[in-house]
Parts: sequence; structure tokens; C-alpha cells
Amino acid sequence: MKEELAKRYEPAEIEQRLYATWEREGYFTPELDASCPRFSIVIPPPNVTGRLHIGHALVNTLQDIVVRWKRMSGFNTLWLPGTDHAGIATQMVVDRDLQRQGISRFDLGREKFVEKVWEWKEKYGGEIIDQLKRLGASCDWARLRFTLDEGLSRAVRTVFVSLYDDGLIYRDLAMVNWCPFCRTAISDVEVEYRDRNDKLYQIDYAVVDSDRHLTVATTRPETMLGDTGLAVHPEDERYKDLIGKEAIVPVANRRVPIVADLILVDMEFGTGVVKVTPSHDKNDYEAGLRNDLPQLQVIDETGKMTAAAGAEFAGLDRFEARKNVLEHLRELNALRETKEYQHAVGVHGKCDTIIEPMVSRQWFVKIEPLAKPAIDVVRNGKIQILPQTWEATYFNWMENIHDWTISRQLWWGHRIPAFYCDNGHMTVSIDDPASCPTCGSSVITQETDVLDTWFSSALWPFSTMGWPDKTPDLETFYPTDVLITGFDILFFWVARMIMMGLRFTNSAPFSQVFLNGLVRDEHGQKMSKTKGNVIDPLDVIDEHGADALRFTLAVFATGRDIPLAKSRVQGYAAFANKIWNASRFAMMHLDVGLKSAGNIDRDALGTVERWILSRLNETTRDVNKSLSAFRFDEASNAIYHFFWHEFCDWYIEMVKPVLLGKHGTDQDRRHAKRVMLEVLDRSLRLLHPFMPFITEEIWQKLGGVEPSIMVAPYPVTEDVLEDNEAERMITAVTSMITTIRNVRVERGFTPKDRFKLFVTAANDREAKFFTDYAYILIELARLTEVIVGGTAPAGAHHDVVEGIAIAIEFPPREVSKEQLERTQREIERSKKELAGLDAKLANEQFVKNAPPAVVQGAQARQGELRERIAKLEQNQ
Ligand SMILES: [Zn+2]
Ligand SMILES: [Zn+2]
Repeated sequence: MKEELAKRYEPAEIEQRLYATWEREGYFTPELDASCPRFSIVIPPPNVTGRLHIGHALVNTLQDIVVRWKRMSGFNTLWLPGTDHAGIATQMVVDRDLQRQGISRFDLGREKFVEKVWEWKEKYGGEIIDQLKRLGASCDWARLRFTLDEGLSRAVRTVFVSLYDDGLIYRDLAMVNWCPFCRTAISDVEVEYRDRNDKLYQIDYAVVDSDRHLTVATTRPETMLGDTGLAVHPEDERYKDLIGKEAIVPVANRRVPIVADLILVDMEFGTGVVKVTPSHDKNDYEAGLRNDLPQLQVIDETGKMTAAAGAEFAGLDRFEARKNVLEHLRELNALRETKEYQHAVGVHGKCDTIIEPMVSRQWFVKIEPLAKPAIDVVRNGKIQILPQTWEATYFNWMENIHDWTISRQLWWGHRIPAFYCDNGHMTVSIDDPASCPTCGSSVITQETDVLDTWFSSALWPFSTMGWPDKTPDLETFYPTDVLITGFDILFFWVARMIMMGLRFTNSAPFSQVFLNGLVRDEHGQKMSKTKGNVIDPLDVIDEHGADALRFTLAVFATGRDIPLAKSRVQGYAAFANKIWNASRFAMMHLDVGLKSAGNIDRDALGTVERWILSRLNETTRDVNKSLSAFRFDEASNAIYHFFWHEFCDWYIEMVKPVLLGKHGTDQDRRHAKRVMLEVLDRSLRLLHPFMPFITEEIWQKLGGVEPSIMVAPYPVTEDVLEDNEAERMITAVTSMITTIRNVRVERGFTPKDRFKLFVTAANDREAKFFTDYAYILIELARLTEVIVGGTAPAGAHHDVVEGIAIAIEFPPREVSKEQLERTQREIERSKKELAGLDAKLANEQFVKNAPPAVVQGAQARQGELRERIAKLEQNQ
């Protein structure tokens, strides 16, 4: 062959060059042809602030494997990419930038600040896209979308107005999770719970016109400034007579009623008395409504105390105020007891600030009418969630779902399309109204809140294709086929897409959801900067190439936790090298490329050729089947095993004598070469979705008909290639070789010693086979000859391999004095090591205290040594 592979496999150069070619040739862009079978998938849009982390690398590798597989399998395939505007995350990044320059966003004002964010987006927002390209992602970049695009914004407004008109969006005062740092409400799912060691304070409240006290416990004494009642259980004998009386809130020195509330109060818990702070606690808020207690807001949206907290506290930070309140309580002798207290505290996941429950006016989606159909589609199988264990979690959540707080008090995002005139009328409208439809006033201002970023991503599968217009994209590619994403956003995103898709497009947005696990470090620990165990996919690509990283992720892509170590990637980089070197070897022996190779005359092939084609066929079946079930681990392992262990370790070794002219006819040589080319071609195509770069580079040199392997057909199984007889016979040959190699070592022979092999064939065909292929056994098992039939002499080693009786005759052994001495020394050394291990393992302290892996290792070595000593002594 004229073409040759470079001596060394250099992923960096190859990857850059090939990706540019693919992009330039437009291979990522599908046809707009609704008559073709098509396959479509939308990317989980990474945050525009994002930098490719290992989680992105995993989810995008898995999508790319599916996409390349489908594309090669003849589907008109779209993988639609894009990024999310990521409200809070992006606002925080730009905010921090400004702060470094000594500017506050409040100095700039909303309009200027939003301009700054857009500037930032134009400058840095494409970083993650370039990083996805380095991974090899074959997205149709011509269709790149952004959740704040004009088109997507119109979809957002259309959905908002429709839900509002149908009574499914409402505005209400409600207790929400408030982040005083970000100064916005956040939804329940954005709250993360962290264990904290706090103190539990017991505080006495004096009962009015009585010498009695009521004691309550709280972890947040500063909120007592906002108490508007005390509650006891209506059946609690201890306090029954106090219901309807009043108590005095210490420090604030305010009278509040003592009420009965059987929902809020648990008689068995604590003192059975609780303080009620309707403005600063979710349960108290409800209890306040039930008992007509007023709301008194003492903490504002920045986490500072309000004027209502009293002149002395107003303006203080909530935690500062806590200290002052405690001091006062001590002075008043109202602080009874302080205990250490461990509890889970809600924080905002994005900034780690402790959540302040707060009553505020927010916008909500009434979720139950949307959730019901979304439960049904999964129940009736229109959407399949894989792995299936996730379905129970999905149902449980969907059946207990709360209304969704969709407003955020941010500046960056989709501003809610509600407009207020100066006469207090509200209009909700897709287009900005010029005047108030109710009174005609032209003094109109838009709602300042923006929408939760998940509101726009909930529309992603159809808004990205041009909805609400009827576009060719929607016609051709919607609904999509599968969604691949991490399980951690099943509720944030997947469930909401299902709800919105069903309501606005009358169809489920996808028919399958595959939830991948989370990548952790090799010990199963979450990766984090503070632990220093983060694996940066870009570093790994620099070091080992994208193919090695992708293959590793595919092999490990099973289960909820994916333990990953850099050494694993190194292992699969060795696989890439193996592919390269085997291909290089093969190409040195090939005379023609794929284009002029001609068909294979199957009937004329020998058993070795028929065997490898049959194995490849079986591998092809496994890979296609595993990919259909999203078993990326099984698919990648099947190819790995075939290519390395069957093709490289056996096939190439078996045909070497033929290729090198040591055995066989010219026709045998032609067949061996033709089949080697065939196997290489099909293996590369099978491997392509997993390792796109190296396969393209090698395949190009093989001279395929198609301009790129990524548009060449994916291998499918062909019944004619299945050959059980060839598999049985070659399995017998490989097993015999392995057996002979083992016996050689066990009996202390060196590779120089050659044996004679006796094979008892069951019939004439087997006899002919072992006669014809004796050269393989002679070469690979280092034999002098193979005798088919015949009787082995006494002292031969007898064995049965794959149902065939064999006997190995050894050459007369001439053991030299040096050899004997060497064996003797080896026995002594092994015995000494064994004695040491025996003593160690007999020591209970060692067995108890050493890590289990160390103990197991010692035990394994102990077994090895015993076996070795026995063998050496036998051979003496
Ligand atoms: Zn926050
Ligand atoms: Zn008006």
C-alpha cells in the first residue's frame, strides 16, 4: 500500500486537523428531509459561564456516541447544541468582575448592567463551545442556540401568556426561600441542606397578669423580634388555661396572644410551647394565617434587621443582631439554657448563603394540572426513563409536587411580560403594549422580576427549533428521540420539559430519557477543588487525547457513581496505541486499499479467516444491541476485547507465517490480506463513535469509498458471516496453545525447548484441519511437530481441550548443575518469603488493623508462593 501511518500516534495534531475538516465539510448538519428516517437529540445546554468539567465530558461523550452511531446507521441525524443564560450564575460572574473594579451593579443600574453581561457573553460565552469541539462533539453548530435568543425569548413569552390566560400562572404573597446574598427568591429544589453545629436557646416569655413563664426553644433568637404569638397544643393540660391569654416577648417588650394550634405544636416535643414568627418561618407563616396573627417583617431582603425590629437593631446584619438579642436576654435573665445542637440548614447552592424564609410577592406556576399528564406519559410508556429505577423517584416527586416559584429578583434573564400602568392595571402580553388596554394610559412599566432560568430551558426541545412558528425544523426533527443527561437534573429540567412539551406541542418532547451517573474520584468521593481531586478533562485531552478520555468514560458509564482515575485514561490511551500499531503493521502488508480491494470470496476462505469474520460479526451484534440499550460499558468492552484479544493477539499472530511467506500459497496470502483489511475496516467503523479521531485518521489511509468514516455505514450483522464450526476449531487451537504455554512454565521448560504434540481427532474433518493448521500450533506453541492420531509415549502430559484429547511429549531434559542450583536457591528464597507472610498473617493485630486490601494481597501472595514452591520441587 502506498499510504502509511506515522510511526507514532500523536493525538493533538490529528484531532485538531480532523475536527476542522469535519466541520468544514458540513458532516454535522443533517438534511431537511422529512421522508428519511431521522434521529434527533438536544444537548443539555451548559451554562454560558461554564468551563468543560468532567461531568460535561461524560454527558457529551455519551450523546456523541449515540449521534455518530445513528448517523452512520443511516439516520438523518440532528444534535442541536446551545447554551443557557444561567441567570444567577452569570449575574454573579459579572457582578464579581465589577466589584474588582470597585463598581456595584446598583451604581450602574439595570440597563447598563445587562449591557455589561451581554458584553461578557460575547467575549467569553463561546469558551465552552470550543471545549466541546475538542471533545469531538458532532453537534450541528449552524443551529447553535442561546436561551436568551430572540426566538427563544418569544417562545418564553408565548408560553407565559398562555399559562397566565389559562389561570396556571398567578401572583401571590407567599413564604419563599430567599437568598439575602443574591437578593432573590429561589425554588425549593435550589435549596441545599448542610449539617451545622448550632446552639439551641431556651427563652422565657412572661405570661401577662400572672407569675408564670412559658419557655420556648429556638436556634434563631433574632427572629423573636418578629414574634406575633405563642402557640400550645389545644389538648395540653399544662397550658390549657393559658389559651387566649397574652405573653410578653422579651427584649421587644411586646404583648402577643397565646393561641392553640394542633398542627404547629407537638406536645411531646420540647416544652410544648412554640413561638410564632409568621414573617420568617414557613410553618409559622401557615400557623399565622390559621390564627389571624399579624405578620411582622424584622429582616429585610439583604439579611439586615428592619425598623420593625426596633431602633436598636435596625440596619444590623441578622447574625450580628442575634448576638445583641442574646446579650439583652441574659441581662433580663430570660435566657434559661443553651445547648449544642446539630441540624440541617438550608443554603443557596449557588452561593452558600443561609436561606432566609421570607414573605414576598412572587409569580407561581400552578403545577398539578401540568404534572398529571407528565405522570401519565411515563406510566403508559410513551416516555421511558432509563435506568428504570429512576421511574419510581420520578413518580414520587411528581405526585407530591409544589407550585413552582418562577420569579427571580435578578436583572439577567427573561423579564416577566407583565406591564403595570400608573392607574394600577396589569396587562400580560407577548408584545410590549404601548398603552394600557384598560384605561389607555401610556405610562407603563414592565415587571422587574425575571423568570427562573429553568423556565426557558423547560421549552428547550421545541423553542430551539423555532416554536411557536411552524418551522421545517420542528416538522422534521420534533419530537426528539432521546434525552441524555445527569440524574441530578431530573426534576429541575427533565420533568419540566415533559410538562411543557405535552402542554404546548401535544407530544412528549422525547421518547426515552437516559440518566447518566455522576463522575467521582477513584475512591468514590465527589470531586471538588478543596479536596484537590478534580480531574480536568482538558488536561486529560492534552495529555492522552480526546479518544482515550471518551473511551474511558464510555467504559465506566454505568451506575449512579462513576469512579474515575487518571490511570484509567492512561490504560485506554494504551489501547489507542495498540490500534495504531496494529493498523500500521497491517498496512505494511496490504497491497491495495478498500476502494480496489474487491469482494471477498467467502467460499474460498480458510478456517482462520472464517473464524475472525464470525467473531467480528458477533461483536457487531453485541455493540449494536448494547448501544440500543444505552449500555455504553458493554458496547465499549465488546470492541476492546475483540480488537485487542482476538484480532491483535490471535488473528494477526496466526496469519503472520502466511503474510511473511513462511507458509501457504499465494492465494492463502491474498485471502489473509483481504480479510485483515476487512476486519480493520469494520473494526474502525464499529469503534468510530467511541474514538472518532484515531479511527478517521487510520480509515482515511485505508482508502474508503466515502469521504469520511463518519458518513460511512455502521457495521451490521450478516448471517453468512456466522460460522460455528470455524469458531469451535479455532477456539480449540487457541486453548491448546494456552495449555501448552502453561505446561511449559509449570514444568520449568524454557521457550527454547520444543515439544511434540499428539492430537486425537474425532473425525476426518478434524484430522484434516489439524494437519492443515499444524503450522499455527508449531509457531505459536513452539512445537517440533503435530501428530494427528498416533500414540503418545509414556510420560507425556495428557489433557482434554475443548473436547479434544491431546498429549504433549517433552524433550529429554538435560538439567545443568547451574540450573539445579538456581532452582534450589529459588525454592529457598520463596520459602523464606512464605515464612514471613505466614507469621504476619498469624498476627491478629495485623489482620485486624491493616487495610483489608493489604490483608487480601498478603493472602493472595501466600497462595502464589505455596503453589510456586510445589512446582519448583516437582521439577527438581
Ligand atoms: Zn445566593
Ligand atoms: Zn390602566
